[in-house]
Amino acid sequence: MCAEDANVHVTSDRAAWLVGPSNKCSNPAPQPVRPYRLVLLGAPGVGKGTQAELLSQQTAACHLSTGDIFRAAKSLDACRCTPAMTAAMDYMHRGDLVPDETVLAILRERGKCLRCSGGFLLDGFPRTLAQAQALDGLLATMNVKLDAVIDYRLPMDEIISRLSGRRTCVKCRAVYHVETRPPQVENTCDTCGGELVQREDDRPESVRVRMSAYLHSTAPLIEFYQPRGLLITVDAHGSPWEIFGRTMRELRVREICG
Ligand code: AMP
Repeated sequence: MCAEDANVHVTSDRAAWLVGPSNKCSNPAPQPVRPYRLVLLGAPGVGKGTQAELLSQQTAACHLSTGDIFRAAKSLDACRCTPAMTAAMDYMHRGDLVPDETVLAILRERGKCLRCSGGFLLDGFPRTLAQAQALDGLLATMNVKLDAVIDYRLPMDEIISRLSGRRTCVKCRAVYHVETRPPQVENTCDTCGGELVQREDDRPESVRVRMSAYLHSTAPLIEFYQPRGLLITVDAHGSPWEIFGRTMRELRVREICG
């Protein structure tokens, strides 16, 4: 069955991913759908998070964002936050990449999320060649194969406009845009009623640092995945549903959507 034909299900709470491996996810009952194991690539602000959200609502795969882990840690009280996590949040506020060792330690701890029978949608990971190589190694030890790496493309000026208008729900992390995806009630999440805020790293000074980190460290991953036949390029213009439609068509062409 293809994701678009499946009923939209309640997105999992991702407790094991966001809070840590000792937590149990209260995921919806597994459905008889093919698991998707995808990496979503693309510059910050290109819409990966929104696409991961749509894909996870329509498949059994979990939206696994490394940025969400750091944002979730921010709301932990100081004594529950490890020194490495506190340092990671400083990098994040500046817009810099968190060091590979920290990110990889976090990913290894959450290895069971990569083995989950529903599959996964990695958003914001890998971001460096070292992370991509480590992911390869980790998946190989689990005997898990990536289905595809989706590279969302948009010109830089449009990306900057998306980032400056982006608002995120403090409670459920749903993503809005003041012009292209406004909530029904100003500054209020349609889904949970939480307050919508601008992420600290969406401020102009952080955005400049993030773009440079993307161009320098993450864009080269396109060359890493291309020769393996895993790379799918998707035009990220248009509404989230248009981009989602393009993504599903590409997956279908490659018979990844079974
Ligand atoms: P994102 O929500 O994916 O844009 O991530 C927000 C911030 O978290 C980034 O700007 C980085 O500071 C940090 N971050 C998230 N994922 C990674 C990663 N895979 N490697 C390094 N830093 C990351």
